[in-house]
Amino acid sequence: MDLGVEPVRRINSRGGCAPHLSLQFDSHLFSIDTSRSPKACIQPDAYLITHAHSDHFGKSAMLSERAIASVETARALEIRYEREYRGRTFRVGESIMVGDVSVKTHRTGHTIGSAAFSWETEAGARVLVTGDVKDYSALPRCDYLVSEANYGDPYDPSCIFEDDLAGFFEALESGASFGAYAFGKAQRAVALMRAMGYHDEIGMDAQSLVLTRELMKDAAGPLTEVNGSKTNVVTPWNLPQVRCKSKYFLTGRRDTSYPTIRLSDHLDFRGLMKMIEHSSPQEVLAYHPAGERASLLAHHLQQCGLETMSLDLIEKFFR
Ligand SMILES: [Zn+2]
Repeated sequence: MDLGVEPVRRINSRGGCAPHLSLQFDSHLFSIDTSRSPKACIQPDAYLITHAHSDHFGKSAMLSERAIASVETARALEIRYEREYRGRTFRVGESIMVGDVSVKTHRTGHTIGSAAFSWETEAGARVLVTGDVKDYSALPRCDYLVSEANYGDPYDPSCIFEDDLAGFFEALESGASFGAYAFGKAQRAVALMRAMGYHDEIGMDAQSLVLTRELMKDAAGPLTEVNGSKTNVVTPWNLPQVRCKSKYFLTGRRDTSYPTIRLSDHLDFRGLMKMIEHSSPQEVLAYHPAGERASLLAHHLQQCGLETMSLDLIEKFFR
């Protein structure tokens, strides 16, 4: 059955593809996590920005009046890139109109303000775009799924993992400090520390401090500058200046000079499979990140009998 939704990619001025994709349906064109089209080119009805990580290109799309992002994503983009967000905003969980299409938004637990988008075509096909996902429980069922594939390689053992919450708790109790990227991981660390009963001040570098204060508000609890407290959460490159005996880098990576504690902002491979089962689509497009992981996830889903493609197989382009 043809769902009437067609993925298309924009060719940029250098002749390459703009990041990610757009979806064409009825008389509409929605762009997803991509950079802005130059003024003279075809403009989409909307630039949907799922969250403020740089590989989702809000830095460029935020300058368009057609940008759509959550209040927190818009604010995070402004803080990170020191420019004004020009688009429209929503609260995650609310709907927002794009022309005559009602676009629903759903929590994904990836970063503060991260959102998935869903809508229905005139013929009633339900489309869902995930962005990056940590928690799929708020996602709706759909017919056409545009899915992330960050840990989508079924053959790579590093795509199967669990967060080391016990290790994090132990390190916190022992008075350790933590390295975490300023947007996303730092707020996850602070939220976990508060949930684990740590109520004292947390020392943070300037960028992490601004982002955490503005995005978490009161939920962040008391924060101070680096070394203002025995426990710190700072970016990995600020970790050397932290005066603390034990330091851990909160990451899934293994190529670091500090000992690591596994805390991921993502679903692992098993989580992705459960998310797809949960949303029960007829057709899937693995859209992020570009490259091998998306292709391998698409291949795996094909073998499971689900009609699936990846970004590299899109054959329709526009300028
Ligand atoms: Zn992300």
